[in-house]
Formats: sequence, structure tokens, C-alpha cells
Amino acid sequence: MKSPSQTNAIDFDSAKLQRLGFGQQQPSPERPASLAKLRQQLSLQLQTSLEPQRILGLFFVEVQRLVPLDALSYEHKSSDLRLEFGQRGHHSISYSLSHEGEHLGELVFRRNQRFSEQEQGNLESLLATLLYPMRNTLLYRAATQSALRDPLTGTGNRIAMDQTLQREIDLSRRHLQPLSLLMLDIDHFKQINDTHGHSAGDDVLKAVAASIKHQLRNVDMVFRFGGEEFLILLSNTSREAAALVGERLRFAAQSEEYIADGRSIQLTVSLGCSTLLPGESAESLVRRADNALYVAKREGRNRLAMAG
Ligand code: GH3
Ligand code: MG
Ligand code: MG
Repeated sequence: MKSPSQTNAIDFDSAKLQRLGFGQQQPSPERPASLAKLRQQLSLQLQTSLEPQRILGLFFVEVQRLVPLDALSYEHKSSDLRLEFGQRGHHSISYSLSHEGEHLGELVFRRNQRFSEQEQGNLESLLATLLYPMRNTLLYRAATQSALRDPLTGTGNRIAMDQTLQREIDLSRRHLQPLSLLMLDIDHFKQINDTHGHSAGDDVLKAVAASIKHQLRNVDMVFRFGGEEFLILLSNTSREAAALVGERLRFAAQSEEYIADGRSIQLTVSLGCSTLLPGESAESLVRRADNALYVAKREGRNRLAMAG
């Protein structure tokens, strides 16, 4: 696990981290720790979870007892995993993690101050504690993914959606943070099937799902709700911010060229947006987004409608 390199600026967001309770995290009282101690402690702690969010969140906080950081980001493309902790920083070091030829993801450390040689050495040494926990979490993820994913688009299926939605509602209540939902439906999709064939329609569906995921920070929050309908959960996102995300998705769908049957076609999508009300159920939140989507369709499609 070597190859440090400089990378270009990436926009980081602390929302996720704050939601998980790391926002007000003070450096541990016994800071700074010795490298050996910290390694030992991390090796034990990181083994206690199979959740990548928890493992990397813990790593991000604890590593700072030795090396102060502004941000940490992680990506494992083939399992659709992308996580960000902290805020942006000017300087970065990135590592491609691998173990016995198996790719375990890309990790980027960032901060405003340069990293010294010694700090870089310490980071590399601490990275070793991530190997087994991350390998296990990726294996576990691969095993559960097939049960929770829609095979065509790779987005979450209805089972995943129900679980995640309830969890996000609970989190939103506990942390007093807004939660918004977008319901997205492809306009006149039946025509695409009729003109180009069902299998070309499938390709378009895959491409639309990929485009949605590409626009979002957390790809774990996209679900295939029905045939050509997707539900997107936006944690810690207000009504206004959700409207901006919705518009961005709408614009991306419209700008993209899709290939169906070897020919390039264009399409648009309509969206409905709802934001969790005090005491509201998951069912009602979804229903209000769906009703808003219906309004967007009725008012001419290729638009976003907000739930009342
Ligand atoms: P609207 O703008 O009102 O949403 O029109 P629409 O044609 O998109 O909506 P409608 O509900 O009439 O048709 C949806 C179509 O989506 C019908 C169905 O055959 C197609 N569909 C649903 N699931 C799949 C799928 O997995 N693959 C393909 N190729 N088509 C699908
Ligand atoms: Mg449709
Ligand atoms: Mg539909």
C-alpha cells in the first residue's frame, strides 16, 4: 500500500460526518499518542465493525492524535462505495490500498498545511491497521449487496429502500437534521421501449441510474422504486437544498446523450420532492414525493415539483 501522490482539489462536505456525531468531536484528551500505541489501539478498535462508514470515521478521528487532518475520503469503485469525512484542505496525499493483489480502495488525506516526511511515514504505518477491517467490510458488502440491489441498475432495491429510509428518519429525528426525498421518473419511457426495443430500454435505464449516482455524494441512497422510477434519499438536506439537487439531476439527465439500439437519443426526467415533517411516517414522506411527481408530470414533465 504505497504510492503517495498529489491530487487535484475535491469538494468535501462535513454533513455526513456531523450527522454521525463526529462534528463536535474534540481531539482525544490523551493526544498525542505514540505511533506504536495508536497502531495497537486502532487494530483492536477497527475490528469491531463491518460498516465502512464507522471504520473510516473512527480511523479519521483517531489518526488525528498523531497527524492532524482536515479531511479523509475513500472510494472503492467496483463496490460503488464513496465516503467523505471532514472539510477540504489544500494539501493531499493519496494511497491506493491493496492486499495480495486485491484492490481495497483509494484513500485521500487532506489538510491546509503540508504533510512532513515523518507525518507521511506515520500515516503509512497507520494505514496498515485498515487492511483487514476494510477487506472484511468489502467482502461482507459484496455478500449482502446481491440481496439488496436491483440487478439491472445496481441501485438499492425495495428491501434496501425500506431499511434505509427508516434508519434515515430515525437519524434525522435524533440529530434534529432535515431529511429530503426525491422521486424521479423518466418521461415518456414507454416510447423509448416502443421505438428501440426493450433491451435498448434496459440500457437507457442503466445509464440513467449511473447518471444519478454520478451526481450524488452517497450512492447508497439511490433506490429503484419501480420500473423507470428512482427514489433518492438526501440526508441532512433541507427543502431548498433538495430542490437544487433535484434541478441538478434533471439538468444532467437532459444534457446526457443516451445510446439506445446503437443510436443516440435524448430524454428528460420529472421529479417530486418532499421533506420530512415532524412525526411523519416513511410511508407518508414517500407518498408526498410521489404526489409531487404526479404534479410535475401533469404540468408538462421535465420539471421538479415540491410537495406542499
Ligand atoms: P411518463 O412520462 O408519464 O412517465 O410516461 P412513461 O411512458 O415513462 O410511463 P409509463 O408508466 O406509461 O410507462 C413506463 C414504461 O416503463 C412501461 C414499461 O414497459 C417500462 N418499463 C418498466 N420497467 C422496465 C424495465 O425494467 N426495462 C424496460 N426496458 N422497460 C421497463
Ligand atoms: Mg415515466
Ligand atoms: Mg413511472
